[in-house]
Amino acid sequence: MRSLSIFGATGSVGTSTLDLVRQDRSAWDVKVLTANCSAGELARLAREFDAELAVVADESCLADLREALAGSGIESAGGAAALCDAARTTADITVAAIVGCAGLEPVMAAIEQGNTIALANKEALVSAGEVMTAAVAKYGATLLPVDSEHNAIFQCLAGGKTEDVRWITLTASGGPLRTWSQAELEAATPAQAVAHPNWDMGAKISVDSASMFNKGLELIEAHHLFPVGLDRLRIVVHPQSVIHSMVEYRDGSTLAQLGPSDMKVPIASCLAWPDRMDTPCEPLDLPAIGSLTFEAPDETRFPATRLARHAAMAGGAAPAVLNAANEVAVAAFLAGKIAFTRIAVMVEQTLTDYTPAAPGSLADVMAVDAAAREKASAMLESA
Ligand code: NDP
Repeated sequence: MRSLSIFGATGSVGTSTLDLVRQDRSAWDVKVLTANCSAGELARLAREFDAELAVVADESCLADLREALAGSGIESAGGAAALCDAARTTADITVAAIVGCAGLEPVMAAIEQGNTIALANKEALVSAGEVMTAAVAKYGATLLPVDSEHNAIFQCLAGGKTEDVRWITLTASGGPLRTWSQAELEAATPAQAVAHPNWDMGAKISVDSASMFNKGLELIEAHHLFPVGLDRLRIVVHPQSVIHSMVEYRDGSTLAQLGPSDMKVPIASCLAWPDRMDTPCEPLDLPAIGSLTFEAPDETRFPATRLARHAAMAGGAAPAVLNAANEVAVAAFLAGKIAFTRIAVMVEQTLTDYTPAAPGSLADVMAVDAAAREKASAMLESA
């Protein structure tokens, strides 16, 4: 039996993880489950999986959580400090599936315990970059990539040497608006942007997929996870989402990882690592898929990957600024306050207006994140 904690248990990645646990309850001891404010749903999951502790990040939702857990014997807590305390609990594996930079502090708390972390929360690594990778080395923690592309690369690199890598190619589906003209993109609605053709995901990452900021964040994530140099990381659009990413070695061999567009596959790869486990996913039916196609990204209609590459090259605080501005812009787009195409404009403007010193600590990263959010939010007010 292995112990497991899930931060962001009520979300898309969290529930996919619990679907895998449900397959074989006797194999898992569920320690901590968390949510932001979905108290009723969190309590239901905590009861089903007999968790030791349930935590809501938003303290104002703790009373509801307590009421929903009454009589269960499951402990409950609320607030940012409680979330970090929970992340310090030792578990064999901690799934980091909170959305956005809100997940950074608990991820760092888990790292400082030397835990094994299955990282879905890419915004945390994008924002904290060097601070996080230095902490992983210092505390002997292990980061396993849940993101399907990074999980694919991780699998393709197994047994290979970094110095033998010629290219790492991240595949991108291109999202639901891939073929739209600039004029159509201007008028894209939140419902259209979240209607991903291949993947069923939370709202924020779905918008990121449509804008290609998801791929931009993933480029920065790959830069930290697989340090082969930015000039060896490239992106190709592959609308079928069958190949999840590729590694080309210097002898001309390219290894690719293929699989269904279901996050249970990369999550299972992390949960069972270094072994394998069953998933309920349908096997790939290549004759039914028929053809796999590839296109170069169009950085005129979708400037996000260009902005992310520049932020990665600039290093220091730039990725944290890019991420924070994107989070503010995506929330504004989902709330109907700005046009879809404003997201990239706001991110670029924030990167131009705000160039803080490189963060040297978690507190520095949080300060950059907060200040960049303020700048981006001010842009919304003046728009
Ligand atoms: P969801 O929006 O579906 O779920 C987010 C989870 O985080 C929920 O449990 C939510 O709780 C919790 N949460 C939200 N805001 C906060 C906060 N401020 N503090 C603490 N907890 C919070 O997101 P996804 O599952 O889609 O994505 C999670 C992460 O995984 C993201 O970083 C995403 O980029 C990454 N990822 C997701 C993939 C996917 O297929 N969904 C694929 C690859 C990566 P509540 O229910 O209370 O709001």
